[in-house]
Amino acid sequence: MTDGSEYQRLRSHLAFLRMTAAAEALPGLLDEAIKTKLSNQAFLERLLSVEVDATDARRKASLERFASLPSPFTIADFDFSAQPSVDPKLIAELATLRFVDDATNVLLIGPPGVGKTMLAVGLGHAAVAAGMRVYYTTAAELAARCHRAALEGRWATTMRFYAGPRLLIIDEVGYLPLPAEAAAALFQVVSQRYLKGSIALTTNLGIASWGRIFNEDPMIAAAMLDRLLHRSVVVNINGDSYRMRSHRARAEATRAAVASP
Ligand code: ADP
Ligand code: MG
Repeated sequence: MTDGSEYQRLRSHLAFLRMTAAAEALPGLLDEAIKTKLSNQAFLERLLSVEVDATDARRKASLERFASLPSPFTIADFDFSAQPSVDPKLIAELATLRFVDDATNVLLIGPPGVGKTMLAVGLGHAAVAAGMRVYYTTAAELAARCHRAALEGRWATTMRFYAGPRLLIIDEVGYLPLPAEAAAALFQVVSQRYLKGSIALTTNLGIASWGRIFNEDPMIAAAMLDRLLHRSVVVNINGDSYRMRSHRARAEATRAAVASP
């Protein structure tokens, strides 16, 4: 009887503490503990590890949802032989995420299709797996969101939002020239993260051409580059487009097949 009421109290303690996974595992673990003569210490360790694993999985799933990464690709999926201009050692070093610890930025620069987004997203997944808060946005989305925020009086909240993540990925800077208001928003996001939180940024424009993104204000371009580059790793990718590459391989195979009698 005392065993029964003790068990009920234990269940209600676990429920009160919202340890639902442990509560669910309790009867099975108790049976096992009796059968295998587990020590008190070993039993408690097993019970708590069930809850720790469940909480950790929930936290990672929630970080993964929040991050809004547009594809599931990881660094391991990147084919380095297809892109010799990318140093595998440098990417492996980035994948340790040490760069996040001192708020270093990563600039991925190269023409379309060379894997800039894939690498940025791969770093994003690695950071999520390490339990970090990550957020992915394109430059155009960031600009649109800041524009709405300004209209709706939520500018400060939105700026705090972009300051929050340990790693902010800003994709596709420079694909579209940014109007003055959008450039100002991007500048503020970069400024407030300066030396506090990492940005992984992809762009098709070499640094020398950045004035073109902010055509209405070359001063902003210079000031933004100052902050981005002060502590940064620049990955220049100048190989062929990966998409084009497979097209070209197919085209060449077809051509060869046609040419040979
Ligand atoms: P970018 O952002 O530079 O325009 P993406 O990262 O979007 O290029 O890459 C274009 C497509 O090619 C994506 O589907 C990506 O997964 C693939 N890709 C690019 N480079 C590689 C690579 N080195 N290994 C494997 N897939 C790649
Ligand atoms: Mg891209």
